[in-house]
Amino acid sequence: MKTLAESRRMLLIAVLILVAGVAAAQDPLVAPVTPTLPPPGSADFLTPLTPEPIPIDQALEGRVRIVGKPARKVILFICDGMAASALTFARALVPERRLELDRFPVVGRVIGKPVAGEVNDSAAAGSALSTGFPGRNGQVALDDQGEPRRTLFEEVRQRGFRVGLVSDTRLSHATPAAFGAHVPDRADEAEIARQLLQSGFDVMLSGGLQVFLPAEEGGRQPRGRRLLDEAAAAGYTVARTRDDLVAAASRNAARVLGLFAPSFLPYRHDPASRDGPGLPELTAAALTLLDRGPNGFLLMVEAGLIDPVLHQSDPAELLAQMQEMDKALRVVADFTRGRTDALVVVVSDHGTGGLQITGAFAPDRFLALATSTIGLAARLDPADPKLGDRLSQAVPGLTFTEADLAFLRDGEAKTFPHRLGDLVGRRLGLAFLPVKGEYGHGDADGHTGEDLFLHALGCHQGLFGGVTRQTDIPRRLAAAMGLRFP
Ligand SMILES: [Zn+2]
Repeated sequence: MKTLAESRRMLLIAVLILVAGVAAAQDPLVAPVTPTLPPPGSADFLTPLTPEPIPIDQALEGRVRIVGKPARKVILFICDGMAASALTFARALVPERRLELDRFPVVGRVIGKPVAGEVNDSAAAGSALSTGFPGRNGQVALDDQGEPRRTLFEEVRQRGFRVGLVSDTRLSHATPAAFGAHVPDRADEAEIARQLLQSGFDVMLSGGLQVFLPAEEGGRQPRGRRLLDEAAAAGYTVARTRDDLVAAASRNAARVLGLFAPSFLPYRHDPASRDGPGLPELTAAALTLLDRGPNGFLLMVEAGLIDPVLHQSDPAELLAQMQEMDKALRVVADFTRGRTDALVVVVSDHGTGGLQITGAFAPDRFLALATSTIGLAARLDPADPKLGDRLSQAVPGLTFTEADLAFLRDGEAKTFPHRLGDLVGRRLGLAFLPVKGEYGHGDADGHTGEDLFLHALGCHQGLFGGVTRQTDIPRRLAAAMGLRFP
C-alpha cells in the first residue's frame, strides 16, 4: 500500500502536469463562462493539496482535468456589506491584531454588480451567488428577465445533500431568501417565509419570527395562517430559544427551523443579545445538525448585521459585529481544518456605508472612547435643549460644537442615529458616506460598488483564487462538489 505522503506527492505531481498543459486563461470579465464539465460523477476533481490556484475558467471548460475527491461539507459564508475597510478597521482593534480571515490561504477578488446599475443590493448579490445568473436589485433569485432560477442549494438538495441557512438578520431577509425563495420584491417577506418552508431545507436558523406568525399574533402572515404549525407538521423541530436549539442539536433533530428574535437578532450593545444565541452559536449548531449522513451538506451563513450597522455609521457596533463574524468564522474554519472533504468560501455581497480610515484614527483612543451610537441615539432626544451636555456625559473625552449640535438636529428623527454615528465617527478619525438618501436610491442606497475580497479554505480551495464575478461563485462551489451548475 502506498503511504499517505506518497499518494499526496503523486496527486501533486499530477496536478502540476495538468496545470502546465493548459492554455492561457480566458478573460473572466468578457462573458459568462459556459461550464462544460463532464457529467456529475464522471469527473476527477482537484486535490485539496493543490499548491497553486488553477484559473477557474480553465477548470470549468474542462481544459484542466481536476483530480481528487469532491468537497462534501461546504460552507458559503457571506459578510453582508463588508468592504475591505471594515476588515482593516476591525483588525486594528482586536486584541491579537489578526482576524480569522487573515489566516485563509486563498484570496480572490470578486466583481459584483446588478444587471441595471453599478451597485448591488443584497437581493441582487444573493441571487448572483445562489443562481449563477445576474439579477436586478430588489429581486430574489430571478434572472434579468424576471424568471425564477434554480439555486445551487435547491440543486444539491435534490442530489441528497443536506442544506442549511443561517443568518443573524431575518430568515426572510434578502440574503437568506435568495437561496431558497423566488419573488419579484424582496419586501414580500411573508411570501418568502412561506416559500422557505416549502424549500425543504433541513436547517434554518435566524431571526424574523414575526414574519412567520399570523396577524392575530402580531405577525405578517394572513389571519389563520400558522406557519410554525405547518413547519412542525412537515417534520421541523421549531426552536425559539437557545435552550430549544441546544435540545434539538443534542438529540440530532433531522430538520430544525429556529427563529430566535422577532426581527433581526439584537445588536451586541443591546443587553437582549445575551439571552439568545448569536451568530457563532447558530453556526456551530447548524454544522452539528447538518453533518450527518454520507452525502454531505451545503450551508450558507450570513453575518448580516455588518450591513445595517454600516448603514447607520455606528463604529463601535461595527467592531462588535466584525468580532461576531470573526468568531462564527473561527467555528467554520476549525470545522474545515479538521477534515479533508470540507470547504469554506467567504464573500461579501457589496460594500456599505463607505467607511474610510483616516490619518486621525487611533485604535487606543477609539477603544477608550467609542460607544454604540445606535444605542446612544436611543437614549437621547435631538430636540433636547441639553443635548450638548448629555452628549458630553455619554462620550466623555469628545467635544461637540454648536455646529455639531445643529447638524444632529437638522433632519428627520429616524436619521438621528445615523447623523450621530457620522459625527462621532469623524471625531474618532473615521469617515462614512453622508446620511442615507444623499447617495444612490432604492435598495442599494448607502451601498458602494468596489471590488470585493473572497477568501477560501479547505478542499479545492484553489478553485477560488484570481478575479471572478459573483455569478461564477456558485459554479465554482458546484465544481468543488463534483457537480455542474447551473
Ligand atoms: Zn447586502
